Formats: sequence, structure tokens, C-alpha cells
Amino acid sequence: MITIDDICEALARAFRESPHNYVSEQMALVPEDVGQRLYDDPIIRIGSADDALWEELKRPEVVGKLFRTPKEWLPEARCVVSYFAPFSDFVVEGNRCDAVEVGNGWLYARVEGQAFLTEMNHFLEEWFAHQGVKALSPYASNEFQYVFEPGTNEAIDDKSLSFTSNWSERHVAYICGLGTFGLSKGLITERGVAGRFGSVIVDASLAVTSRPYSDVYEYCTKCGACVRQCPGCAITLAEGKSHLKCSSYVHEMRVRYAPRFGCGKCQVSVPCERGIPKR
Ligand code: SF4
Ligand code: SF4
Repeated sequence: MITIDDICEALARAFRESPHNYVSEQMALVPEDVGQRLYDDPIIRIGSADDALWEELKRPEVVGKLFRTPKEWLPEARCVVSYFAPFSDFVVEGNRCDAVEVGNGWLYARVEGQAFLTEMNHFLEEWFAHQGVKALSPYASNEFQYVFEPGTNEAIDDKSLSFTSNWSERHVAYICGLGTFGLSKGLITERGVAGRFGSVIVDASLAVTSRPYSDVYEYCTKCGACVRQCPGCAITLAEGKSHLKCSSYVHEMRVRYAPRFGCGKCQVSVPCERGIPKR
């Protein structure tokens, strides 16, 4: 039987060996960035495809009706393997330096780094296939759909939908046991909030890991540091994050840093940056 250690070892090796997890000469904004790593080794948890929480994600206040459960993506699904890829010190420390200017590393990690994570999702599909297991990454498939602001995705008939998708890596990670949500809507893991997520659905019965929390916001202390950090005034203690305000601010960053973009100030210089904050 495939163990979580087998998956961790294979994925960590791929993270270390892929040239796309490092700043290349072609992408570097300054020569000193060449060779810097974007993502540290990932942490992994495994959820059951039969978990009752998958259906809960369809509620309008969670992900919404567009969300597809693991079995709606892959009828023979048994488990979901979810990973958190922490940003490297180069990425995080570079984004701590200024209250508004986005660090070079953060810009690479959000754009070229996202392509690298898609490559890692395909790596997992192939790695499982070699063990005789069918694996599917919804995010990396051509059926993945999302919509940010209302009416901005022509492929989606219901023009009232906004800030939703048919697969949400953070919500998947919550169900699989990787962490709980923060006020800033990031997912706080044992390695903190600064990083990105990926996952694959598999048709094998793996050992499901525990979900060591019962509340969606259990790890967030409501300290308000992310509220003070946010240059877009998108987070409040009373209401959490406004997706619309955040999206509008990040759009400004798209213009400023084109062809890259980013912000992530709510994920750096905060108590949940690199771990679960102490109460
Ligand atoms: S900075 Fe504080 S309030 Fe914001 S998500 Fe982290 S722990 Fe929660
Ligand atoms: S990404 Fe930037 S604008 Fe959006 S909530 Fe975080 S700090 Fe605010």
C-alpha cells in the first residue's frame, strides 16, 4: 500500500529537482535573484472522498454550487491528497521589506511559481499512474472553472456567481486536515499561511489523516495583524476579507507589475506567517 511517507518523499524530490522551482536567468528581474528557490518542501495530508464535508462546500457562503465533489470529478474516487507548498525564505523575506512594494520573489512565486505547482500536480498524476493508481488534479485539468468578479467568465451561464470555482485548493486542504482559515481567508497550516496549495483525487484507498480541529477558524487568534498589514483596506476584524476589495487592489498590482502581479502583505509579518500562532 502506498503510504503518505512515499508520497511526501516523491513530491519533495520533485520540488528539489525541478528547475522551475528556481529563479532562472530569463525570469530574473535582477541578477542576484538567479538560482533562488521559490517553494520549500511541501507538507501533505489525505482526506476521504466519502467525507460529508465535500457537499457542504456547495453552500453559497462557502465555495458555492459550482463546486464539484471528488466523486463528481472522478466517480471511482476514494481519497484526496492535498499539499501545502510553503514559500521559501527568499520569497517571504523579500515581501516583508516594504508595506506596499511587492517583493521580486513573491511576484515570481505567484506567476511562474503557479505554473511550477501545476507541473507538480501533473507529476503526482504520473507518479500515481506508475503505481497503478488513477489520479486527477482538477486544478490542472481543462475542466477547471473559476469566476472572480460577477459576469467575468463567459463560459459560466449564471452571471450572478462571483469569487467561486469548481475546485478550491484551500477548502480541499481544510477537509484533508492541513489547517484552518484565518481572518485574511488564507489557510493557516503548521508551516503558516504563506504558501500555495495543490491536490489530486485518487482511486486508491490510502490511510486518511486526521483533521486535528473542529472549527473553521480554530488556528486564527483574530489578532488583527493582517488587517493592519493590508494596503487595500480589504480586511476588517468584524467582517474578515472582502474579496471584491482585495481583487480590486490586486488588479492595480497587475498594472504596476505586468506581466506579473501579487500582494500577499496579509501573509507576511503576521503571527501566522510561518506557523500556527500562539494564543
Ligand atoms: S494575522 Fe492574526 S487575525 Fe490575521 S489571519 Fe493571522 S492570526 Fe488571524
Ligand atoms: S492580498 Fe493584499 S489586498 Fe488582498 S487581502 Fe491580502 S493584503 Fe489585502
